[in-house]
Amino acid sequence: MKGIIFDIKRMALHDGPGIRQTVFFKGCPLGCHWCHNPESRSKNVMCLKVFETLNSIEVEDEEIVGREIDSVELMGFIQRDSLIYEESGGGVTFSGGEPLMQPDFLWEVLTLCKKHEIHTCVDTTGYSSWDKIEKIVPFTDLFLYDLKHPDNEKHRHFTGVENIQILKNLSLLDELGKEIWIRIPFIPTINDDEADLLKFLAILAKLKNKPEISLLPYHKIGSHKYTRFQLPNLMHGVEEPSGISVAFARHFFENEGYHVTIGG
Ligand code: SF4
Repeated sequence: MKGIIFDIKRMALHDGPGIRQTVFFKGCPLGCHWCHNPESRSKNVMCLKVFETLNSIEVEDEEIVGREIDSVELMGFIQRDSLIYEESGGGVTFSGGEPLMQPDFLWEVLTLCKKHEIHTCVDTTGYSSWDKIEKIVPFTDLFLYDLKHPDNEKHRHFTGVENIQILKNLSLLDELGKEIWIRIPFIPTINDDEADLLKFLAILAKLKNKPEISLLPYHKIGSHKYTRFQLPNLMHGVEEPSGISVAFARHFFENEGYHVTIGG
């Protein structure tokens, strides 16, 4: 079966345990203001106009974003690093975009990975119908689960979708006892004040199993893409968080007994 990806990253250190390969699926139902990969949101292979400045000259060009790949070909890439996974306790992480936008392709590559005894992570927004998630549960060792904003209205404003389904799916996964690492993008003026942290905590406190937490401090590395692809950048004026505020948030969750890592 064929799917559409937009990148494969080898030697990834922050997308689950050990050293991993991260496969980025194309397509995302969200539209986060801070998205670092805006070119990944469409689920199709696209030819995008790009705008660069070279030696003070504006240059217009085109770039193909995404490629179709067969599951067997993808497994060939993944298995190149099998020894590294074994030695480091790593494996493969399917990320995006949102990998559940291509549920059948995701299911197929996950089952192939398990056939080869490769550890699997799915990095998801959780914004999906439950049946698609349930189908991949037996083949997914770890879910990296995004919580972007605890407040439903703000979630809708900053990502384009509500968080109700996301929270419901999180609770269902927790009920099944799946290993979950929560990923929180930590963004000044958007979700970083104490009231937001308390609301995140209230959501996590409802879970039966204590998940690990990864705080992902907002950074501007991807912002050049908005110029490059001539897309509106909604993050003007939002700065990267200070080390002090990240440390505060880290201790906030650690004081409640969570294991917290920074970055990812
Ligand atoms: S979920 Fe990720 S890929 Fe999708 S819009 Fe948000 S930041 Fe971008």
